[in-house]
Amino acid sequence: MINPLQKIITVSLSLFFFIACNNPVKNEIEIESLPKEIPFALVIHGGAGTIKKEYMTPEMETAYTNKLQEALDAGYQVLESGGTAILAVKKAINIMEDSPLFNAGKGAVFNSLGKQEMDASIMDGKTLNAGAVTGVSHIKNPINAAILVKDSTRHVMLSGFGAEEFAKQYDLKFEDESYFFTDKRYQQLLKAQGKEQALLEINTLNVELIDNHQYGTVGCVALDKDHNIAAGTSTGGMTNKKFGRIGDSPIIGAGTYANNLTCGVSCTGTGEYFMRTLAAHEVSNLIQYKNYDLKKALHQVIHIEIDSLGGDGGMISLDKNGNIAWNFNTSGMYRAYKKSTGENIVKLYEE
Ligand code: ASP
Repeated sequence: MINPLQKIITVSLSLFFFIACNNPVKNEIEIESLPKEIPFALVIHGGAGTIKKEYMTPEMETAYTNKLQEALDAGYQVLESGGTAILAVKKAINIMEDSPLFNAGKGAVFNSLGKQEMDASIMDGKTLNAGAVTGVSHIKNPINAAILVKDSTRHVMLSGFGAEEFAKQYDLKFEDESYFFTDKRYQQLLKAQGKEQALLEINTLNVELIDNHQYGTVGCVALDKDHNIAAGTSTGGMTNKKFGRIGDSPIIGAGTYANNLTCGVSCTGTGEYFMRTLAAHEVSNLIQYKNYDLKKALHQVIHIEIDSLGGDGGMISLDKNGNIAWNFNTSGMYRAYKKSTGENIVKLYEE
């Protein structure tokens, strides 16, 4: 015979377990609602801008295509072997940061003082934890420092000297300024400064006329076998930017965002417009609160919100079901994706 007290305890415990099991932790999606085949996927970009076939040599085309594929494969391998979305983003971005082809890590653009100040950020869609660094000049892979900020501090963003001092406490690789230098980027700075000076001399300095957008920012969004999404972005910013200028790439919600309930996003383009529209978070909001699908949300942000401000750039994104979308209002964007369904796409130009 169960006495009344035992009965109360039994009923309370059953109720507790029923409620606990039916209330997933915030941002943990209900596994039942996902397709039986566990999808995993990865999408990357290497910057948006004036990327046209007529401006490319066959050698450059091959170099970009191969490097994008290498980054894609490295991230995909992590996912295939059951690794986390965060690790996949890190691996893919590291390959692009280490390549002089892109405006991130080695090959970062120069600011108006001829210095390289790099930014990076990462976000975990399961926990909504995030990390970012801005204005770092000696950390070989700024995305790794962003991950450390996420994992090892109670902060989201560290800047300049503080970020580098913090990173020195860990096993991160540091390089001196000569490592990051590339003649191509230096020539771009001289050209941008010459153009600005010429416009000043004829007294028609107009920021709209100064096209200092030297594409090449890198980003990645991944969905792992545990249904977790992560997004990351790494950049040298904009050629001839004012020293100390911070763009959208390290700003969570502007250049990078991830939420398991909706999607992950990484942006590239003239950062100021992506900051003013909180572009990456805007995509997530349109999905969460307006029921937009990924494609429609990206179109709204790039072709309506950013376009109406006169901004340029693009974004890549991936949702909880492994759907991938990208969009840009420039003539091209280095981009690629690979899915567990077998699809593998690499593209450079508008099409
Ligand atoms: N969004 C970057 C910035 O404004 C630049 C880029 O993506 O090309 O710093």
